[in-house]
Amino acid sequence: MASAILVLNAGSSSLKFSIFEVAADRDLHAVAVGQVEGLGTAPRLKARDGNGQRIAELQWSNSEVSNHAQALQQIASLLRSRFHGGILAGVGHRVVHGGPDYSAPLLVSPQAMQQLETFIPLAPLHQPHNLAAIRAVQEVQPDLPQVACFDTAFHRTQDRVAQLYGLPYEYYERGIRRYGFHGLSYEYIASSLPQIAPEIADGRVVVAHLGSGASMCAMHGGRSVGSSMGFTALDGLLMGTRPGNMDPGIVLYLLQQEGLSAKQIEDLLYKKSGLLGLSGIGNDMRVLLASDETRARLAIDHFVYRINRELGALAAVLGGLDALVFTAGIGENSTRIRELVCRQAAWSGIELDSATNASGGPRISLAGSRTSAWVVPTNEELMIARHTRQLLGL
Ligand code: ADP
Repeated sequence: MASAILVLNAGSSSLKFSIFEVAADRDLHAVAVGQVEGLGTAPRLKARDGNGQRIAELQWSNSEVSNHAQALQQIASLLRSRFHGGILAGVGHRVVHGGPDYSAPLLVSPQAMQQLETFIPLAPLHQPHNLAAIRAVQEVQPDLPQVACFDTAFHRTQDRVAQLYGLPYEYYERGIRRYGFHGLSYEYIASSLPQIAPEIADGRVVVAHLGSGASMCAMHGGRSVGSSMGFTALDGLLMGTRPGNMDPGIVLYLLQQEGLSAKQIEDLLYKKSGLLGLSGIGNDMRVLLASDETRARLAIDHFVYRINRELGALAAVLGGLDALVFTAGIGENSTRIRELVCRQAAWSGIELDSATNASGGPRISLAGSRTSAWVVPTNEELMIARHTRQLLGL
């Protein structure tokens, strides 16, 4: 009988899910991908099958579906209807924080849950929801194996020197260090390069994960040696609603001179800055690219400027650059942003091939280009399913 793996990615008001069938040859096939969103406001579910065809679109009142556990029941009934006669072998979760030590995914146990809870202060906006999803599954099916896959794990190969901040050393020991995020995406890209771009897989590669959250990772031979995100997912590049790297003195100024509370600053940094704050129009890159407004242009220019600046820093960490890889929503879909980035990065030896850039790659630099540029679609869910399959011995 075929078995399935459920992959869950829980946010504050959403539960994204994918259902993978484990084929006889151990290959993983997505049979449903979707999300429950609007928990607490207007809960609804949308799902597509593995070919992108719509298979479900439902909505409920808040009294019917108000939390992750109830959302999970709806996903379970979809799973039953899509996966007749198969067995659910386990659940893989995206868990944002694995703390200083976890460099690999983990089979969830009561002891592991206790430890993962100690990381809540490191990621208070995400970790509690990730753990709530694990608990919701435990309540319905206590014996179902669950696997926690961490966004920080891939970066644990970085040197201590790269993970330090210049604070007194005891802060490092207390956990204030550069963790890096988007690790499941980078790990997936690293696993894809040998097939898609074998000539760069062992080389010095910077991957730009440009989605609504955005970061860059320096990889050498498929291992992370540096990342733009740090202690939290606020650091590094300009993002949809986050400012990225900025002088920490600004936070002090806002606290001491402008009288903002910690909560107001959190709101400013997580929800009101970035492309949204600079443009005053929105955080969706498509909208900004289509706009004639000066500030939309300014926001795009700053977004590209910051990518180029970070590229220079990460290339220096790598001691040179063999390739730049674009991924995630903006990286995979925006010909224009890739063009602007590659033109600014001409210093690195990238010569853009406009034709393959327009058609989406995978290689978007000219054949003789000293440094190559690529588009490689990411798939964090598949990475989680692979880890889950492996830890469950499927
Ligand atoms: P996340 O998973 O972090 O929510 P995604 O990787 O799905 O984000 O990326 C979402 C972003 O990708 C959207 O905010 C949108 O700005 C951008 N995006 C998607 N398609 C395009 C496109 N064709 N051109 C420009 N930007 C795009």
